[in-house]
Amino acid sequence: MGVLAYCPTCFRLVPATERICLACGTDSGALSSREFAAKLRAALGHPRGEVRLRACEILGQRGECAAVHDLLALARRETDTFVAAAAVTAVGQLAPEIAVTALEPFLAPETPGRVRSAALRAIESLRR
Ligand SMILES: [Zn+2]
Repeated sequence: MGVLAYCPTCFRLVPATERICLACGTDSGALSSREFAAKLRAALGHPRGEVRLRACEILGQRGECAAVHDLLALARRETDTFVAAAAVTAVGQLAPEIAVTALEPFLAPETPGRVRSAALRAIESLRR
């Protein structure tokens, strides 16, 4: 197995050497990095939770700082706690300077446990 990349349309893992996604036929070579980032941000509103989750993770890994406010908004409205936790984690990765303040509200007792733990981990890793 060689290097893997994400398809910018369906967010499945595909070999980085494949320009055309085997699952959905998207030509990733035709997209600029900026278009890819825009697609990722749009995917935060995707109806499938696993796509929203993956978009959070990739935005965090790619260092797409412009997505921080989208991620925070998602974390606040998201009902799937796996997705909300991924959004919180990505905020910690992307915006250390605002993350502690932005993530503190997620430490409230009414926040679902998984999301609260993700916020706590993000804040603690920044304070280290
Ligand atoms: Zn695809």
